[in-house]
Amino acid sequence: MMTDTKASNTMSQTDTHPQSTEQTRLTDLPILFKSLHIDTLPNDVQTKIARVDACLPQTQCGLCEHPDGCLPYATAIVLKGEPYNKCVPGGQPVTDAIAQTIGIDTHLTAAPSQWPIDMTSGRPTEVRAVIREDDCIGCTKCIPACPVDAIVGTGKHMHTIFTDLCTGCELCIAPCPVDCIDLVIVERELSPFERVAEQEDLRQRYHTHLKRVTEQLADTSNSKPVVSMVEAKLNNATSQSLNISEAQAKNTIAAAKLRTKIKKLEKQLSVRANDKKQMELEGLQAELDALQAVL
Ligand code: SF4
Ligand code: SF4
Ligand code: SF4
Repeated sequence: MMTDTKASNTMSQTDTHPQSTEQTRLTDLPILFKSLHIDTLPNDVQTKIARVDACLPQTQCGLCEHPDGCLPYATAIVLKGEPYNKCVPGGQPVTDAIAQTIGIDTHLTAAPSQWPIDMTSGRPTEVRAVIREDDCIGCTKCIPACPVDAIVGTGKHMHTIFTDLCTGCELCIAPCPVDCIDLVIVERELSPFERVAEQEDLRQRYHTHLKRVTEQLADTSNSKPVVSMVEAKLNNATSQSLNISEAQAKNTIAAAKLRTKIKKLEKQLSVRANDKKQMELEGLQAELDALQAVL
């Protein structure tokens, strides 16, 4: 177990990020979210999406079956009536908060987590990723998986995770070829105010990550060390000249996330057969094949 300093320094981290309001939350979104067409929706619908998104933890883990993160899930709840109990790290408190926000009386039980419920928060126990640095081979495969740029390192050199920046989304675990990333339990208590501030910080960092990835995808003059998904892609592409459109940038990010989910499922299925997960795997593989065909 470890303790986390995040709760105590949350406010200093967020000082650089002004709190978003319902009016500003959905403006200047990364390209990844353009296909949601949120800006074309009536104001009251946008407000509802913003409110539901504000309930979500902003871990961007994709466990709600939205690999692009919390905002697409919030949008699907409001526009498509998708069940509002699918946020795994949010647990019952988030499920109940969404029900209240969208004015639904029926009770849904939150989707189960592999982690036990923390009796203080009522949410699944929080974890953070830690790299066993002696075992790390510096392959860089974990870097593109991290939605909040919490991993630093260069090719062939040991990598490190900034625990204070890690959300515990677990997306870096599956890509590691030598299984040198551990998850450690974090015990902490957040006040409602700190929770809101932290979610805003995570949301901003994810958006910053997506915007930087998009810019770097369009940059054909890369000569920097490998520190991100796009740089890894460009590094592998060596002399290949990339001319990447907005759609390609979005598809590349989506494909990377699908690959991570597929590897995670493959790993789970190699331990124990599960028909539902096998079907999910086949669906994701088909989705990835379709994306790769247009990349
Ligand atoms: S925290 Fe994860 S499961 Fe919850 S809404 Fe965001 S992406 Fe989905
Ligand atoms: S370091 Fe790993 S667990 Fe932590 S936020 Fe990044 S991808 Fe998620
Ligand atoms: S994927 Fe694993 S071995 Fe490769 S850089 Fe990351 S932690 Fe190190």
